[in-house]
Amino acid sequence: MSARCALIGRSFVVIVVVLAAAVLTAEAQPQRPMPPQMRDRMPPGAAQPGQPPAPGAVKPRLSWIDVHLHLVTGRGSSRPDWGGAVETAIRDMDQFGIAMALVMPPPQVETQPGVYDADAFAGALTRYRGRFASLGGGGTLNSTLHRYADPVQVTDGVKRRFATAAEKLIDGGAVGFGEMASLHVSAASGHPYEFVPADHPLMLVLADVAAKRDVPIDLHLDAVDAPMPTPAFLAERSSANPPVLPETLAALERLLAHNRKANIVWAHAGSDPIGGMSAAAVGRLMGAHPNLYVSLRIVGAPAPLRNKVLTPTGLDPAWDALLTRHADRFVIGTDSFMVAPTTRGSGPGTTFAERNTPKLQATVHFLSLLSPDVARTIGRDNVIRLYKLPVK
Ligand SMILES: [Zn+2]
Repeated sequence: MSARCALIGRSFVVIVVVLAAAVLTAEAQPQRPMPPQMRDRMPPGAAQPGQPPAPGAVKPRLSWIDVHLHLVTGRGSSRPDWGGAVETAIRDMDQFGIAMALVMPPPQVETQPGVYDADAFAGALTRYRGRFASLGGGGTLNSTLHRYADPVQVTDGVKRRFATAAEKLIDGGAVGFGEMASLHVSAASGHPYEFVPADHPLMLVLADVAAKRDVPIDLHLDAVDAPMPTPAFLAERSSANPPVLPETLAALERLLAHNRKANIVWAHAGSDPIGGMSAAAVGRLMGAHPNLYVSLRIVGAPAPLRNKVLTPTGLDPAWDALLTRHADRFVIGTDSFMVAPTTRGSGPGTTFAERNTPKLQATVHFLSLLSPDVARTIGRDNVIRLYKLPVK
């Protein structure tokens, strides 16, 4: 394959992955004005959703923190535009009242082109002091985890090197590990299917490092409580998915029990592609495991997603009760993909970044439906405590 073909191929894969994530979570939602409750928490000069921020309106303290954000650059190119992706992120953050975002590499495997980790974009994040922190491991640790999917291959040497790589990420400034994947279904061709049980020996090593360094692990684990046929829409979208999905929840419980000082942030509650991440299932696990935190990916109406927090009329009652019961262990992770302008427009008339807007609007709406105390706890205070962010 020529270098040019390789580049085109890589860009294509990146765009497909972004599209896959967008397709799973995007849906049409009408623009709505920011509710007064949320507006009160916005600093003077901050923009309301649906309005561009006024020039110079950026304020150092906005109202909520997003713990799960990705940057997209067309990274197959020789000079990936991380700075451009950061500018896209800042624009959306200002518009939707996001004071700070935790940026992390998605959970990659070796067979993907251009595998990268937090060091790739760390420099670009420093443009906006106090607005970003990063998690590391989605490139290096996750690809190693899945390379050694068969636990028989995990020698003491492999474990030692894995632990050393993990410590290095924290030494380099990461405030946690992410995004790691136990079960990650494929939503489109080029979007990987990944599976190891959450209590894989290298995940236990990572839990011990996380406990030692007092940092959390952001874990993508599609919830399956008993082996089940792959849902038809996922089977149709990607041949990478196997015909049957493995059970995942028992292994998650064993990971949680392995080291109680390791805090696990279970990602993407509230927009579940499989069906097992119900409020009841999440509540049962949170009740049993004090080191389980849950990050909410809020979406509005349709989309082939289940167990949503928002209903057409407001908060789902089961989620509402759980959010109140365990308010100190929920955070918000929008899973937004912030696309560099140089990457946008590569698809058929699509600007992928705009697909974040419905999720961000839905999240602001969600926060407005909570009591002010719970909104502040989930939207901000838990994050500062859990990730030890230097924010007052
Ligand atoms: Zn994820």
